[in-house]
Amino acid sequence: MTTCGLCERELEQGYLCPGCTRATGERLDRMPKLYGALAAFLQPSGRRPELGRAQGVEAPLPVSEPVLNLRGPGGIVGVLEDWRSAMQADRGWGQPAVRGATEDRVRAAARGLSLNLEWIASSWPMAGAFAEEIRDLERSVLSVVNQPERTRRLGNCVELMADGSQCGAVLRVAHGVTEVRCAWCGAVWPPDTWMTLARLQQAATPPAGAPVEAGAAEGHPSHA
Ligand SMILES: [Zn+2]
Ligand SMILES: [Zn+2]
Repeated sequence: MTTCGLCERELEQGYLCPGCTRATGERLDRMPKLYGALAAFLQPSGRRPELGRAQGVEAPLPVSEPVLNLRGPGGIVGVLEDWRSAMQADRGWGQPAVRGATEDRVRAAARGLSLNLEWIASSWPMAGAFAEEIRDLERSVLSVVNQPERTRRLGNCVELMADGSQCGAVLRVAHGVTEVRCAWCGAVWPPDTWMTLARLQQAATPPAGAPVEAGAAEGHPSHA
């Protein structure tokens, strides 16, 4: 008699119960998708860029650090590749080839592990620690992707109304969306205007309908 390394249920044999094996497989299958989903959360958060800190970071815009870490070398790809490498070593296999863009590596490592789940569950003493880390990894991603507030405040709409006033409606960006449409006036704000909107908001949040200074809307919206 032994116990499942993840849920601690009693087992006849092996290291993971069938339920935890299945759940781990599903998590592995979701990993490439979750990695991709995180990309949407790298976008500017409306936070003021901290000068000097962006240097050396690939993205030119302020980014969310937890997201950057999860998508970085020690994040999803690192966790998966380390486990795959350990698994292959313990099976007496050579090291897996690592190549391509990060998203390809995530897919390859997740698949390499998923294909060996049966062996992992039945024969690998590391199975419990492995399954636990995969579960924690997914939780970390989901805590970003499934934020209770599904939209982020971008700023206020600076579209000019017929009377020369600013629209002023609050603009919100939904996760995974690349274009924002003002719910009030219908103006469309593509991502290249978001920094401007955020900056304008930080400079001063004008009350709705406040008079507009000429040239305030640097990235003028296009009506779609
Ligand atoms: Zn279990
Ligand atoms: Zn508007």
